[in-house]
Amino acid sequence: MSYDLVVIGTGPGGYVCAIRAAQLGLKTAVVEKRATHGGTCLNVGCIPSKALLHASEAFEEANKHFADLGIDVGTPKLDLTKMQAFKQGGVDGNTKGVEFLLKKNKVDAYHGRGRIAGAGRVEVISDDGGNQMLETKNIVIATGSDVTRLPGVEIDEKTVVSSTGALELSAVPKKLVVIGAGVIGLELGSVWRRLGAEVTVIEYLDRVLPGMDGEVGKQFQRILAKQGMVFKLSTKVTGVAKTETGATVTVEPAKGGEAETLEADVVLVAIGRVPYTEGLGLETVGVATDDKGRIETDGHYATNVTGIYAIGDVIAGPMLAHKAEDEGVAVAETLAGQSGHVNYGVIPNVVYTFPEVASVGKTEEELKKDGITYNVGKFPFTANGRAKANGTTDGFVKILADAESDRVLGVHIVGADAGNLIAEVAVAMEFAASAEDIARTCHAHPTLTEAIKEAALAVDKRAIHV
Ligand SMILES: Cc1cc2nc3c(=O)[nH]c(=O)nc-3n(C[C@H](O)[C@H](O)[C@H](O)COP(=O)(O)OP(=O)(O)OC[C@H]3O[C@@H](n4cnc5c(N)ncnc54)[C@H](O)[C@@H]3O)c2cc1C
Repeated sequence: MSYDLVVIGTGPGGYVCAIRAAQLGLKTAVVEKRATHGGTCLNVGCIPSKALLHASEAFEEANKHFADLGIDVGTPKLDLTKMQAFKQGGVDGNTKGVEFLLKKNKVDAYHGRGRIAGAGRVEVISDDGGNQMLETKNIVIATGSDVTRLPGVEIDEKTVVSSTGALELSAVPKKLVVIGAGVIGLELGSVWRRLGAEVTVIEYLDRVLPGMDGEVGKQFQRILAKQGMVFKLSTKVTGVAKTETGATVTVEPAKGGEAETLEADVVLVAIGRVPYTEGLGLETVGVATDDKGRIETDGHYATNVTGIYAIGDVIAGPMLAHKAEDEGVAVAETLAGQSGHVNYGVIPNVVYTFPEVASVGKTEEELKKDGITYNVGKFPFTANGRAKANGTTDGFVKILADAESDRVLGVHIVGADAGNLIAEVAVAMEFAASAEDIARTCHAHPTLTEAIKEAALAVDKRAIHV
């Protein structure tokens, strides 16, 4: 078979790229080694984690907060098998949706491992050993990422689990130790804490959510601690040993010092993700990678080999589904002769806990490092009418605006529905809005969005409700 484009991997980067390319008239095929499309995100990432976050939040609401609303449901009982089936329903619905979309757009889908056999040639090796050669003008590598392993710690996905195993537990662990206080560790730690686990999070750095705004990290940690999560920051894990009933985790201060041990039923290793290029045949054509194993690309996602491009988690940048999608669209448009482009300054980042954390643009730490002078406008949800009415007053909105031009440079939100709230400011930032532009935009009352308007007013020290 001969194509204009063969995309290897059908995660959010790959399948979106293929659909956009087909829309633009390119004869397109995808190759996927999993039985289902959608990649990490739909199968073992964004979608199943959000389904469990949603279900466990409902459980905790019924358990702890319904009574405050005057709703007496007694003590709710957990049916974990059914909750897992609910999660799987969401996964299946989404992966089947991608299959449908690929067909609808006349994208040929091949199942098997894709291997670059040479310039313009992709070999598809199926599980039964059969193979097929595809000829193509262009190849887009969208093979995503895999779990980062901790040296010397074997992940068996039962007692010592990665995020994949943590989404599949068949019983609530009594004690869960989470290694890593990043997004994935805190989201999945929240799921199992809500369902009854005692959760201890160990982090090498002295803060949670590394990379996000420092003040946000501090306040968020306080909120999670109030909910019952225990944190051991500035602490390194030196060993995980499986026992008959679970595992023993040995830790010591990051700077060195006395070791201690923690007992756990389940240990979740959530220290990050690494680009995945195993068996892809990069060496056959000499595609260059960097010191972190990421495929090197130029501003148009082209690798050093003519006709081979790469997008998503397998290249540099935030490992996020929407970043991969936008890169997929950009490279498809470039291949079709258009001007594909991604604005890396405006990529929202969301933590789907309760409350949520959402951020876009620069953090205060980054602005300081870059020597940019800025004004800060902050507004707490305790002063927002809707948050008060709903009883969801944890958190705040923080807007960072350029001191001279008032242009919005970064927005950071801790609060209920922060993941949806951030979209407004992302649009504003795409249009180079000033804080005053947001402050003068009429926001519906009573909504949580008014906290954004008030934070924008606060940049000019004229918030109304504080
Ligand atoms: C638990 C968890 C929760 C997450 N939650 C979020 C979230 O809420 N929001 C968010 O934005 N991001 C989230 N992410 C990150 C998100 O899943 C990734 O950023 C995204 O999936 C990257 O998309 P991708 O297309 O680059 O790669 P992937 O989604 O990893 O897809 C790559 C695909 O390529 C296939 N493949 C690999 N090699 C080959 C080969 N040689 N031949 C054929 N097929 C191959 C793989 O099987 C896979 O299907 C989460 C990740 C995890 C693990």
